[in-house]
Amino acid sequence: MKKSLLFLICCTFCIGSLFSQKKMPQKKMPQKQVAKKQMPQKQKLYSAPCTTLRDELKSPTAAVDTTPGRNIANNYAMWDNATELTVKFMNAGSQFMRERVIQYSKEWEQYANIKFKFVPDNTPVTNLRVLLGESYGHNSYVGSDANQAPQSKQTLNFDTLAFVSYDYYIAEMKKRGIKPNMVDLKKMVTTEAVVWNNREMRGTILHEFGHALGLMHEQSYPGAINWNTDTVYTYYKKYQGWDKRKVDHNVLKVANQFYTNGTSYDPKSIMHYSVDAFLTKDGYSLPANYDLSAGDKALISALYPKDRTISALEVPKVTISNFQKLDVENNSTRQGISMYPTFDLKTNSKLGEVYVVAMLVDEN
Ligand SMILES: [Zn+2]
Repeated sequence: MKKSLLFLICCTFCIGSLFSQKKMPQKKMPQKQVAKKQMPQKQKLYSAPCTTLRDELKSPTAAVDTTPGRNIANNYAMWDNATELTVKFMNAGSQFMRERVIQYSKEWEQYANIKFKFVPDNTPVTNLRVLLGESYGHNSYVGSDANQAPQSKQTLNFDTLAFVSYDYYIAEMKKRGIKPNMVDLKKMVTTEAVVWNNREMRGTILHEFGHALGLMHEQSYPGAINWNTDTVYTYYKKYQGWDKRKVDHNVLKVANQFYTNGTSYDPKSIMHYSVDAFLTKDGYSLPANYDLSAGDKALISALYPKDRTISALEVPKVTISNFQKLDVENNSTRQGISMYPTFDLKTNSKLGEVYVVAMLVDEN
């Protein structure tokens, strides 16, 4: 074996202990609706469930959530309470659409001790960046994970084509003797006065900014939904082109009880996907939600309280930055080597443990 080693250092910072959490007011589980429905034979004209983004924003069409194992609210991705988050638009989007994003996102401010400060497009550094476009999907980084996105990239995507009134355009195409299709719909949207679906637009903007505040999908609540997994895979493959990994992450994943923050399952949450009965084993179904539920308001108020400096749901957090160099020295006392990484570490007020993990890789 060669004496020299290649060092591949992977520093993993884990928080040691999870601590007991304040219980949120309990709500009753909903009565499960039993209504058998078959998977539709034809593709819906447009269907784009939200996904959350992390580091796969390599192209505007990437709509992938790679955030592992964190749901409901990712306590480790909360912004500091009382933060004013700067937000800019990525040099695209109509004035009309920008105003709607500003208007609806700010509904969260009524309940969360957070402000969204919309700044000019040419602001060099911002916390959040919104890209308004077509066919990008709707998606967002979760909370402060947005810090991992380069400033040249968006942290939220909105597919503005999904905000038009499909009912209107389908009816219009039928009236004109055209079989409803996306090509003609796009043509009509660009050449005629646009008819919007304001309810869909508002609900989606609320949902994505919920992610931006650190909330995850409510369907991941432990035990909430008895999915018919084979049908779910088939359905999302057919209509979204998602592979199993994406479906597992965005639809089927069940959260650790910890991330529920003591809440009960909330079928009215703005963070819940709609559910078709054919996707569940027991016929459970759920319509789309368009408003912040009482549970959404209670949880975001508890995560970002207005009446106290630090949330009772705060967890130990560390932020690593400015990783500069790694000194490696022979250590005869330990009969091995010692490694000295250099970086900045910022912690919050909660006690926790930090583990530094180094992986050594032989050059062979
Ligand atoms: Zn989502």
